[in-house]
Amino acid sequence: MIQLIRGFKDILPGEVELWQYIEKTARSLFEDFGFKEIRIPIMERTELFARSIGEDTDIVEKEMYTFPDRKGSLITLRPEATASVCRSYIQHKLYSKDPVQKYFTIGPMFRRERPQKGRYRQFYQINAEIFGVDSPLVDVELIFLMVTLFSRLSVSDVETHINSLGCPECRPTFKAVLSDFLTSSTGTLCSDCIRRKDRNPLRVLDCKVPACREAMAHAPSILDYLCPACSQHFETVKTALDAMNVPFTIDKRLVRGLDYYTRTTFEIQTGSLGAQSAVAGGGRYDGLVKALGGPDTPATGFAIGFDRLAEITGLNCNDFIKTPDIYLAALGEKSLSLAFEWRSALCLEGIKTEMDFGDKSLKSQMKRADRLGAKHVLIVGDNEIKQGSVILRNMTTKEQVLIPIERVVENIKANLGASPQLE
Ligand code: AMP
Repeated sequence: MIQLIRGFKDILPGEVELWQYIEKTARSLFEDFGFKEIRIPIMERTELFARSIGEDTDIVEKEMYTFPDRKGSLITLRPEATASVCRSYIQHKLYSKDPVQKYFTIGPMFRRERPQKGRYRQFYQINAEIFGVDSPLVDVELIFLMVTLFSRLSVSDVETHINSLGCPECRPTFKAVLSDFLTSSTGTLCSDCIRRKDRNPLRVLDCKVPACREAMAHAPSILDYLCPACSQHFETVKTALDAMNVPFTIDKRLVRGLDYYTRTTFEIQTGSLGAQSAVAGGGRYDGLVKALGGPDTPATGFAIGFDRLAEITGLNCNDFIKTPDIYLAALGEKSLSLAFEWRSALCLEGIKTEMDFGDKSLKSQMKRADRLGAKHVLIVGDNEIKQGSVILRNMTTKEQVLIPIERVVENIKANLGASPQLE
């Protein structure tokens, strides 16, 4: 039998209802905050990701699904959404009427990481991007939106971590200080970090190898090297988070390796997922739109890991599974065709209806109705047709009433929820 590709997964009925609920909750929150949906392609030219995520990152170095198309140009299954949203903003000049644009997008991403719990090769993200606003308040708005989403989804055990990455003015000084520190700690760093320390020293700060983590505990903090403007930006973020009652931790190790990423950076972490503690991440990328050939536009955004969010939500999957309102148990050919007509009419009325299309016994149909969690069963057989009325059984109270055969749909429609009465 052909099996799933490793690191890929099916989201089956029984679980998918929870995903739908999460998506619905996110969509309604985005709407309240004035975001518009944007849908971007699954594939882009490889160069877009190489340039925006950076050649010297794990994603671009070793995790992208990249292959030549039939004409030989390299294309990549998107590993994240920001690059594509920026490309779209620039390509369609979405800034021309108003540079301020707020977008969200929800969909699958692809990274060839080592699969484990909470880490997949096809995973889903809920992304938000705000273009054209340099105020620190929109960074806070994004964090507030995420925290609100988590609380609406009964996610507990999450912590907001924040840091600032400075800007091209102040970061070089910090990089130089950090490089000196790393040179003095070379003996304790992993081989990747020894390579990174010259090419991209900031990345050493978030290495997950225990020895590197230990060495980095004593590393200098970028917050001590911020220029006055970046410092002010970070102060406003902290004050506004306090004002919105969003607790946060300052995490000097929270970094991104690219120059486009500026100032505020944040991550939402959980203790509920073992090693994969990051549920969401984001921050400013004031330099990216320009670097991709667009106008100089400040921007900020986040990506929530949908799979991880679904795993830690306190909501119960069973609460979202919709059971049939009515199960039609028909006995005999004539009853079956009547039941089929009623079923179609009831479905069109928005009344969830199920039936058996075969010639099963009443007992086995009742069993199936029970298994499906049907709230009522309508029983129709030759006797009922002869007598001109069908039986409607409430599966909870076991109460049964008779409904005139020529008024089944109207009667059920009028009485659903209450106990339908014999007329
Ligand atoms: P990133 O784009 O790397 O900042 O990731 C944003 C969020 O996406 C993370 O906080 C995770 O929740 C989620 N994520 C990233 N990679 C994976 C993966 N391989 N499997 C599942 N979720 C992931």
